[in-house]
Amino acid sequence: MKLSRILSNQNGVSRKQANALVAAGTVTVDGCICRETAWEVDRFSTVACNGRVIQHGDRAHYLMLNKPAGYLSATADKIHKTVMELIDPELRKDLHIAGRLDRASTGLLILTNDGTWSRRLTEPRVKLPKVYRVTTVEPVSTDAIERFAQGIWFEYEQLTTSPARLEPLSANESRVTIYEGRYHQIKRMFHATGNRVSSLHREQMGAITLDPTLKPGEFRSLTTREIILE
Ligand code: URA
Repeated sequence: MKLSRILSNQNGVSRKQANALVAAGTVTVDGCICRETAWEVDRFSTVACNGRVIQHGDRAHYLMLNKPAGYLSATADKIHKTVMELIDPELRKDLHIAGRLDRASTGLLILTNDGTWSRRLTEPRVKLPKVYRVTTVEPVSTDAIERFAQGIWFEYEQLTTSPARLEPLSANESRVTIYEGRYHQIKRMFHATGNRVSSLHREQMGAITLDPTLKPGEFRSLTTREIILE
């Protein structure tokens, strides 16, 4: 919401008075004087006028969870247990998932109540690299490496996937990096090469790597550096 609107939402403050208060340098956003009436203030910022707090900023939460298999990446479900059940009840409110994992998949899952921030992780045009460790039923072929790099045709969406990196680690284990997040993407890519995924574990999303000290089902807050997404 615009700064002047936050002030004029106060009883007895007109839009004109709000603009004058801002121009006079009496208004702070998160402790800094702001003279721009059109400044967009999010719900996490604290706004004060002449030292009196007008908006208490909500606390923003940024969490990484080591998702265990068997939990649905959803906020609620009638049949299956969800990842929210692994988060402390007082933290759960308003959280959403930035980049889901299939129920059987494990590893890095990010939860936040900051939609502006999570869009930067999940917006397709950002092309954030997501790294997975994958076990397959059949050994990975050299042809598959080439096909992943070229992109694979997805009949249902009528599109070719962006080039992805497939690095074999042993006969049936590989590391896969994709830059988009389509439905069952990695399983479908392997399927297109005549193989099948038996386990899928997300290790990394952009600059955020799953903390190796987190046991399955454990979570922690992201550090400031991780939140900045450098
Ligand atoms: N691709 C899949 O097929 N499943 C996931 O959980 C993530 C990526």
